[in-house]
Amino acid sequence: MTRQVYLDNNATTMPAPEVVEEMLPFFTEKYGNPSSIHTFGSSVAGDIDLARERVAQLFNCTPSEVVFTSCGTESNNYALRGAAGAQPEKTHIITTMVEHPAILTTCRSLQRRGYNILELPVDRKGRLDLDRLAEAITDQTLVVTVMYANNETGTVFPVEKVGEIVKSRGCLFHIDAVQVPGKLPVDVNKIPADMISISAHKFHGPKGVGALYVRRGTRLRRFMTGGHQERGRRGGTENVPGVVGMGKACELAISSIEEERKIVAARRDSLEQGILKAIPNCAINGDIESRLPNTTNIGFEFIEGEAILLMMDRKGISASSGSACTSGSLEPSHVLRAMGVDFKSMHGSIRFSLSRYTTDDDVDYVLDKLPPLIARLREISPFGMHARLPETAPR
Ligand code: PLP
Repeated sequence: MTRQVYLDNNATTMPAPEVVEEMLPFFTEKYGNPSSIHTFGSSVAGDIDLARERVAQLFNCTPSEVVFTSCGTESNNYALRGAAGAQPEKTHIITTMVEHPAILTTCRSLQRRGYNILELPVDRKGRLDLDRLAEAITDQTLVVTVMYANNETGTVFPVEKVGEIVKSRGCLFHIDAVQVPGKLPVDVNKIPADMISISAHKFHGPKGVGALYVRRGTRLRRFMTGGHQERGRRGGTENVPGVVGMGKACELAISSIEEERKIVAARRDSLEQGILKAIPNCAINGDIESRLPNTTNIGFEFIEGEAILLMMDRKGISASSGSACTSGSLEPSHVLRAMGVDFKSMHGSIRFSLSRYTTDDDVDYVLDKLPPLIARLREISPFGMHARLPETAPR
């Protein structure tokens, strides 16, 4: 049987066994509806309260500031559409060119309703120009929304500094922190954000559940109309197993930050260094000074990312390319394009994202299989001849 090495943890993660164990009773004996009057249902409300407390600990906030949602995408939608609904007089939104589609397409949908959207550019390493951000804020600005860490490159934005600028100008500040729990702290006493989105499946929790932190006093128009759940902020019967699982995942995430910073980052570094040493004409995309501990994005010149992924898949290695397949044509990633990554490596960029379950053996396996695979692809690539020229890419 082919060995499986999962290096696509920014796409989704393995649910932690402790998380699954806590969820199981809610699929079997504890299936009541927390809104019911009878004890069988209402007792489950206590389990939701515990989960909310655990999520609140992740944010270092009060439980009433946590709203459960169905995913990171819904949290982002609620933040932006909720803010727009509550302050219709303000019609300017600032974001960045490298956000996840959950933000960019929501902004574009608001644009079609008359909103003025500014997507700030980034530099070659994916960094924001904070002066430019400050200059862009006007009296009309409703909200500034930026990601904490980029899902493709791992580049971390200085959200504390961004928050200081945004709050000094009196507008709302939303952070898409979906890639961050368990990797970096998300402490709302240090980060002056009004709203923060997270999603359980990105940090060893279940799929189908997310949360939005909403600072006390922030006015949001409810996005999901319906029942009185979530103190009237989001209608719909709670995803009880999911919420319970997310609570446990938050507890584990709080305690895993050190391990992530030391052990996972060391494995990521040995994978990265091993690849750069063994394979000519490749370079890191992103800001190595300020990056998630688990992520590396490497551009392999003169070959297609999809071909690399397919060949790695045959060896049991799961990773991801920066590009999305749009209507049959291979579009390079909007993130790498915004960074101005060279054409010759943009199409051959691969994201490797590790987790606390990645082992040294996994890293060794990839370092054994990848170099011959890249060499083979370069031989058969129509651009292969360039790959045999002297090294052209910065290392
Ligand atoms: N924001 C970022 C930065 C992400 O990486 C993702 C998922 O890849 C999302 C939002 C969307 O999260 P979800 O899959 O929970 O909707």
